[in-house]
Amino acid sequence: MKLKPTLCLNSLKDININSLYYAGVKLVFLDFDNTLVALESEEISKEGKNFIDELKEKGIKIIVLSNNFSSRLEKVCQDNDLKYYSFICKPLPFLYAYLIKKEKLNNKQVVAIGDQYFTDIVPTKLIGIRSILLTKTNQKERLLTTLLQPLERWIING
Ligand SMILES: [Mg+2]
Repeated sequence: MKLKPTLCLNSLKDININSLYYAGVKLVFLDFDNTLVALESEEISKEGKNFIDELKEKGIKIIVLSNNFSSRLEKVCQDNDLKYYSFICKPLPFLYAYLIKKEKLNNKQVVAIGDQYFTDIVPTKLIGIRSILLTKTNQKERLLTTLLQPLERWIING
């Protein structure tokens, strides 16, 4: 099993949505904190909004998957008409597999995007879907994330 994400990019604005579209991607699993919104923020960044709008334009579905369990997550997703699941116990991959089956898609039609290797990328490796790890560093981190970063870098850089 390859451990690396399919792609490492700085942020959502670096993702080429045309490439996803022409690669046949129909569904994006999107992490919430530090991916769609900055930690503690109650609003999607301009970059995040553009990303969502462009995916919707291309007919690519978005499902927000978060380990978070907050009214902030609920509010942001409802305000932006985004389907979401909270408290999903990533890196367990069961919900990913269930949703792909429910949407009647195959693994090649799905990509997952997130900012943390262990919670956002490991599940994609377990079920065999493509993944994009966002690595921009100017963000607030939780303690556990900070502690795991050296190991994460070791895996990604080989
Ligand atoms: Mg995150």
